[in-house]
Amino acid sequence: MTKEYVCAACGATTARGYTVPMLVRTCEGCEEWGQFIRAGLLELADRVPDGDRPDDWGSLSGEERMQVAIEQGYVSISDLRA
Ligand SMILES: [Zn+2]
Repeated sequence: MTKEYVCAACGATTARGYTVPMLVRTCEGCEEWGQFIRAGLLELADRVPDGDRPDDWGSLSGEERMQVAIEQGYVSISDLRA
């Protein structure tokens, strides 16, 4: 079963036949060497309630939002492995 991974910088997607939290690769979309986060994981960052979101939440990348969610305990490492 293939999994879809989303470029944290530009939202381009790629599919792989294995499941990991994220890939690090060169993106065809933005040509950046960066992180592709597994589709579905980015939505986990939405668990962070408005009151706990930094003021610049709207301008954070998916990767940075995930970092905040993990640091604040809304997303755990076991969520990333699921
Ligand atoms: Zn990209």
